[in-house]
Amino acid sequence: MFKKILIANRGEIALRIQRACRELGVKAVMVYSEADRDAKYVRLAEEAVCIGPAASSLSYLNMPAIISAAEVTDAEAIHPGYGFLSENADFAERVEKSGFQFIGPTPESIRLMGDKVSAKQAMIRAGVPCVPGSEGELPDDAVQIRRIAKTVGYPVIIKAAGGGGGRGMRVVHTEAALVNAVTMTKAEAGAAFGNPSVYMEKFLQNPRHIEIQVLADTFKNAVYLGERDCSMQRRHQKILEEAPAPGINRKLIERIGERCVTACKKMGYRGAGTFEFLYEAGEFYFIEMNTRVQVEHPVTELVTGIDIVKTQIMVAAGEKLPFTQRQITIHGHAIECRINAEDPYNFTPSPGRITTWHAPGGPGVRVDSHIYTNYFVPPNYDSMIGKLIVHGDTREQALARMRTALLETAVEGIKTNIPLHRELMVDAKFMAGGTNIHYLEHWLEQHKR
Ligand code: ADP
Repeated sequence: MFKKILIANRGEIALRIQRACRELGVKAVMVYSEADRDAKYVRLAEEAVCIGPAASSLSYLNMPAIISAAEVTDAEAIHPGYGFLSENADFAERVEKSGFQFIGPTPESIRLMGDKVSAKQAMIRAGVPCVPGSEGELPDDAVQIRRIAKTVGYPVIIKAAGGGGGRGMRVVHTEAALVNAVTMTKAEAGAAFGNPSVYMEKFLQNPRHIEIQVLADTFKNAVYLGERDCSMQRRHQKILEEAPAPGINRKLIERIGERCVTACKKMGYRGAGTFEFLYEAGEFYFIEMNTRVQVEHPVTELVTGIDIVKTQIMVAAGEKLPFTQRQITIHGHAIECRINAEDPYNFTPSPGRITTWHAPGGPGVRVDSHIYTNYFVPPNYDSMIGKLIVHGDTREQALARMRTALLETAVEGIKTNIPLHRELMVDAKFMAGGTNIHYLEHWLEQHKR
């Protein structure tokens, strides 16, 4: 096992990884920007290094600063968390060239999956079902684009090959709107992701977003840890997640999980990863793979009893996966609510000083958050300030526990989306289970205030 690792991230995930390190007896070096000097995990750290000013481009995205921090503190490995540099193949490469272990897959795997066109092609080769669409990148020629759309069938969605975070996508319903939509998505993709290439998929009308968590070691062992339902989204961004996915046949999950495992083995995948699918009318369609730990990993941890972050570190240190597929079982039900510093209904960010923070507790309640009373939420980063995760023997019990937990939670001084979560937890359709990816946006339309 490593003696010391550097955690190249901030917020709740920095704290989560720090906790995993303590359990493993590994020293953790924290890095922080000037805006995060007072972060809880920095104060709790044995070692912490300031890597630059508040702007992420100068700190959490600053590769030389992060690598020098690892050098001066004698860390052996770097955990990138999620977001920031976690899916940057060049960073993974620089980390390994500088003699550190990157806690994640190889730069080749990151590169292959980072381009959604090459990712889909790899999945097709591995026998993972994909959303029907263009065979690869869309050509420039308008006639050819129209022909492809006709074959795929309207409505279609134009997606950036380098896209992420729910950005770089455009739905097209008619041929008249097609070419212009392609041109605009290309221009945006070039500006936002430095890669103008786009591809086309059939736009599924009422799918659910179901994803499969995998873990793989460097001895060609790979397992899947069941699924998560992340259909509750706004602008393609998840706001709450659960495991298992209500109402989906276990045999179907097993079949798709096994395909994911096969794909991991084929590409020599290592570490944690997530295969994201759209699920409609009993069929799974691959959309993309995330080559890192995800925000919603705790729901899987609660139903499987497996610590995903610790396992990531263990396999990066060259250990074998400590369990086989047959040893993985799903117990009960887990739900996660993402707590964001934002207006609950119009979603404007609400950074600032938290004057009061009361965390919930009780059986089956987990809080992953770095906030505290008097903590200042900086305006420079993502608005997520923590996650509330509950576990119950049944979905009903998990829902009841989440309602209680949300009732007990108090955040004052800034606005949060807790009121929205409270309403969703008593919404009849959500309670029934199985709502699709458009549900929340329709709900928000109907509950406009
Ligand atoms: P990102 O990397 O930006 O998260 P994804 O490819 O994972 O992009 O898609 C994000 C979300 O966009 C999905 O969860 C889904 O809500 C929607 N989406 C993507 N592709 C399609 C499609 N072909 N049909 C319908 N919705 C889609």
